[in-house]
Amino acid sequence: MARHNWTKEEILEIYNKPLMELLYEAATIHRKHHDPNTVQVSTLLSIKTGGCPEDCGYCPQAARYHTDIEGNDLMSVNQVKAQALRAKAAGSSRVCMGAAWRNVKDGREFDNVLEMVRSINKLDMEVCCTLGMLTENQAKRLAEAGLYAYNHNLDTSEEYYKEVISTRGYEDRLKTIDNVRKTNVTVCSGGIIGMGESIDDRAGMLVALSTLNPQPESVPINALVPVEGTPMEEEEPVSIWEMLRMVATTRIVMPETQVRLSAGRTKMSREGQAMCFFAGANSIFAGDKLLTTPNPDVNEDMEMFKQLGLNPQKAFEKKEKPESVSAEESQYQSQDEKPKWSRPGHKIERNLEAQQKTKTEA
Ligand code: SF4
Repeated sequence: MARHNWTKEEILEIYNKPLMELLYEAATIHRKHHDPNTVQVSTLLSIKTGGCPEDCGYCPQAARYHTDIEGNDLMSVNQVKAQALRAKAAGSSRVCMGAAWRNVKDGREFDNVLEMVRSINKLDMEVCCTLGMLTENQAKRLAEAGLYAYNHNLDTSEEYYKEVISTRGYEDRLKTIDNVRKTNVTVCSGGIIGMGESIDDRAGMLVALSTLNPQPESVPINALVPVEGTPMEEEEPVSIWEMLRMVATTRIVMPETQVRLSAGRTKMSREGQAMCFFAGANSIFAGDKLLTTPNPDVNEDMEMFKQLGLNPQKAFEKKEKPESVSAEESQYQSQDEKPKWSRPGHKIERNLEAQQKTKTEA
């Protein structure tokens, strides 16, 4: 079972281990909790692009930066459904819809998003949204529509956050995650490396994520894609070694979580990605665009899967549990916790929980 009391010092110690040792430990933990040959394939769909009032320093969708992205109003339900069907045919089991909003506003547009969630849910795909800040009531409405996961990244450490964004605070992020946690929707929250932060900040972000209880079911690890016109356009690219260390450390401190390789994958060789899968990454975004930045082509990914003997994870797939906990792994578990192998998030279990909750509330 996951530990929720990681300290920054402990995480730094893991991050800075000799690389071979770090990879071995991460891979050992990974195969105890997950099938090492299965990787989830998600499709990210920008349902409303650009014109965002926030000032995230990495984001070309912020209205205040002069980038060459093309803005779009909210897509229609039919457009989204057609894209989801295409994604499913190409092997995706999850659709993540992103809207460049500061926060969700009740009204026609939110009603349309709820309808999108319902229609993708009917396709038997996991539906995720990333729409900005949410109230508790909005989170409940999304849950009722069948939302599977809500993405809300912490981005970096609390200390470094103000260097990246000034229009909202870390507390705002945590509040939205907390609102999502009051429903049966799973949490997807991660961050970006390569924004000028220190290794301490990377460890600080992992402290913030791993001490959430429960830990996020999904943690995207992005490498900054510097975009011309944003304040981070000059940042140096992240090396594969940094990415590997980050993925491996995330896997060790959040053993049951789905660790997602996100932005920056186009800059990684196939060998580099294979090492990340070995170190515990078990989810990728497919499709030629990640909201607005480039991403590997779906066929290329499927070719890579074939080469590496990987299988795309099915929607709502419940993982079976392997054998007993190893000595290597047990040192990372708290003394009073027994290993638990089944992962949360299974559709049937979640629906039962929801029904139970409704009955209790009624
Ligand atoms: S990351 Fe999201 S909230 Fe920040 S500027 Fe971009 S679209 Fe807006």
